[in-house]
Amino acid sequence: MKKNYLNYLKCIKCEKEKLSIFPENVMDDEEFEEGIIRCEHCSAVYPILDGIPCFLPESLRDISINEKTTVLVSQFIPLEG
Ligand SMILES: [Zn+2]
Repeated sequence: MKKNYLNYLKCIKCEKEKLSIFPENVMDDEEFEEGIIRCEHCSAVYPILDGIPCFLPESLRDISINEKTTVLVSQFIPLEG
């Protein structure tokens, strides 16, 4: 995920645009592979996984960020071949 994508994102909880990135695996100064996006207004946190910001409600997030992720995602993305 590129750092400037934050300019286009907002918190799904409070709908503010005051988000910060806390990178864990930095590809370079402008791109993040893994980390956390935190809302400075309501302190909600959203993970960045494989470079993709995961803006899910907390009720869905517990399910999606574990081994079930592949199963859930595959229901929405057609498999190639
Ligand atoms: Zn928020």
